[in-house]
Amino acid sequence: MNSRKFRRLGLGVVLLFAVVGTAVSLPEAPSRDAAVDALIAQALGPSPLSETLRVLCDGIGGRIPGTPALEKAVNWGVENFRRAGVDNVHTEKYSIPHSWREGETLLEVVSPARFKVHATSVAWAPATPKGGITAEVVDVGDGEGEDFAKLQGQGEGKILLVHSRLMTSLDDLFAEYMHFAAVMGSAAQAKAAAVLFMSTRPRGLLYRHTNSTSGQIASVPMAIVGREDALRIARLISSGPQVQMHLSLPNEIGGPFETENVVADIKGVGKPDEMVILGAHLDSWELGTGALDNGCNASMVIDVARAFHAAGIRPQRTLRFILFTGEEEGLLGSRAYVHDHRSEMDRVVAELVFDEGVGRVNGFFLGGRKDILPAINEVLEPVRDWGANSHTFDAFIGTDNFDFLLEGIPTLIANQDVTDYLPNYHASSDTFDKVDLRELKIQEALAAVTLYRIANRPQRLGPRQSRVEVESLLRDYQLDQQMKQFGMWQDWESGARGRKQ
Ligand SMILES: [Zn+2]
Repeated sequence: MNSRKFRRLGLGVVLLFAVVGTAVSLPEAPSRDAAVDALIAQALGPSPLSETLRVLCDGIGGRIPGTPALEKAVNWGVENFRRAGVDNVHTEKYSIPHSWREGETLLEVVSPARFKVHATSVAWAPATPKGGITAEVVDVGDGEGEDFAKLQGQGEGKILLVHSRLMTSLDDLFAEYMHFAAVMGSAAQAKAAAVLFMSTRPRGLLYRHTNSTSGQIASVPMAIVGREDALRIARLISSGPQVQMHLSLPNEIGGPFETENVVADIKGVGKPDEMVILGAHLDSWELGTGALDNGCNASMVIDVARAFHAAGIRPQRTLRFILFTGEEEGLLGSRAYVHDHRSEMDRVVAELVFDEGVGRVNGFFLGGRKDILPAINEVLEPVRDWGANSHTFDAFIGTDNFDFLLEGIPTLIANQDVTDYLPNYHASSDTFDKVDLRELKIQEALAAVTLYRIANRPQRLGPRQSRVEVESLLRDYQLDQQMKQFGMWQDWESGARGRKQ
């Protein structure tokens, strides 16, 4: 970030006021917008952002829907939006089919040696039978189809150990999700007693994932195992007699429950019925405190709202700020929001989502919408030298834009440097100390300017796509394959999810 730029912008504001004050008429300045400068000044100047985030991470901590922490986080969101002075602050309820909480997970090797193993349950995985299970552990390598074929029907009642590679990129992460879901299916078919996934991070670091979608309980007990422990177990299996392990996953599973998204507006002055949405998810896993994923951006969304209000800016279109919940369980909050607001989807001009921590924003993922690129470049013109111009058309199932994309709405996800985000992703190390607050403020300035410029643009970024157009986008970006793998395709086909015509 070039801080000289901001000083120059600040000076620009002063000059503009001076010109107005003395009623000197000058040749028209080349399209600098005082509102853009004011928003940048609000975002970069003193603000409650750091303290708001600290309270969320340290005071409330990890936030799984269905737990008291998530309820506290929802209240935190409501209070902070109210403090920011914006309109129409409220929550919107929806239902998740099962609650889930980890119990006292216990995993140990009982023979040929006896030692405890670092492990944590996969989220929304079933509990093991009371007292746990003791069984032979079988190494199924990478857990590919051919690895399962080698079991030759001998997987029944066994604990399966699945290897992994170290995760070093977003592509690795997406591959891990796809692969784990496939392994779960194969393990269920093999009637395995449980599956142990080798951690993709070194040095005993554990993290929470879910391999199920839609808040349903998975079919097989599963745990993530410390990488070094898993490698030791694999060596024991390959070198000697049968390895027996004891696994107890007394997960607490409940029935359907209600949880809430938090919603707030800044009403537009020219086209108040049309809106631009800025969203981030508020929920998080709870081994850490959900700082990079995604407390920092939930706090940022609130502070963008504060910045608009403090600068006295009401754009042409309405700004809607949403803190989604249930994201980690399968994008459940944004799915419910889109479902409940289907009748107004024609009026949603764009949705902007931040969900990659605080790494430098390189541009936006445009979700397959090649047609909106010229408009995005125009929107970012005032901040052209911030380096956020490398957009990609990538489309994926990964955060709270997906149901908007299925409705044909242009979506933008910040494409960020993930160097610090990935090692801490969903892990016990995702804590407040990882957040670079200076980067977060710069990110807020970019979000505010982008939101403002989209909301004030005379034309939309692009049209709402028809069902036929959305379906062809899904096929072009192989999202149809991913949706089939995650069990989502049927809902698209039946019209339960996504644009109907
Ligand atoms: Zn996230």
